[in-house]
Amino acid sequence: MTGLTTLIGQQRPIRMLCNALINDSIPHALLFTGEDGVGKATAAIEIAKVCNCAGISGSRKPQKDTAPEQHFAACGICRYCRRIEHGTHPDFHVIKPAGAYIRIDQIRELCGRLALKPDEASNRFVLIADAHTMNPEAGNALLKILEEPPEATFFVLTAPDTQDLLPTIVSRCRHVRFNPIPQKELAEYLGWRSELDNENAATIASLARGSLSRALDMASEDWMTRRNFIIQRLCRLPQQPPAFRLAFAEMLAAERAKLEVIFEIMKNWYRDLAVFAHFPGHIYNQDLREQIRSACKQESLETILEKSDAIDRAQKALSGNANVRLALDVLVMELAE
Ligand SMILES: [Zn+2]
Repeated sequence: MTGLTTLIGQQRPIRMLCNALINDSIPHALLFTGEDGVGKATAAIEIAKVCNCAGISGSRKPQKDTAPEQHFAACGICRYCRRIEHGTHPDFHVIKPAGAYIRIDQIRELCGRLALKPDEASNRFVLIADAHTMNPEAGNALLKILEEPPEATFFVLTAPDTQDLLPTIVSRCRHVRFNPIPQKELAEYLGWRSELDNENAATIASLARGSLSRALDMASEDWMTRRNFIIQRLCRLPQQPPAFRLAFAEMLAAERAKLEVIFEIMKNWYRDLAVFAHFPGHIYNQDLREQIRSACKQESLETILEKSDAIDRAQKALSGNANVRLALDVLVMELAE
């Protein structure tokens, strides 16, 4: 069984969408906003399934005394459900950035396909993921279809925020805001889904900042071991001789593919050191409270903020074409001060 109710921590958007389903008033264009990994694309897929599932027949009117959410569980096993889930249904179109942007030729191709009759689905869906990456030409081309959508065709756009899109597009869509998933719900879900004990689940839920996909990434690999290793190295860096510092930079360079994760671990650590004095309850690395307490005593707030800035600079340099090893050598020297 699948369905909108499988989304966690999004009761408000789910209820709104279920009410629209009950009243057969799903808007032709929906805009789901919120951070990465809170369930926007999953919700789009679930609506497409519910609107086409062979297992849901007859009236969508809820029976008495039953929450509307209970009625919108797609079967998950019929041919529609399976093909939508796997992205192979010919009437479920997914447009996502090709490289950094969604380009006008992708939207033109979509328009061409929408001009034809649907292959088999009674309700055709278009998911435009990361709609904020549309360049203005692509956005204007999409606007034309949103203004005169083909029959029984529904658009779902996802983006971090409304201000990231052309106002003319926002005004054509019903906006549904997805909030960060509450920490407690995320921790409970992780505890159920993975082998994490309660403390580790709570720590990852805190560090994932409301994003299920981020939390699952952290839970799936040996993220805790990596985090502990990186933080231990950061704490000892100032006392180490230059050869050890360079060895650390070399190790980071060898982990090129994991650098974004490592930078995030580092930034969260310095962020925790910066907030601990005034907001000890707001640290992300909740299981390292004592270590944070003692590390705070050894560094001034100014130094902590400088180190955090140094990580930002390294990230920026590496997103350009900087020499990886050189950028990491510089970073490690700055973190060692
Ligand atoms: Zn089904």
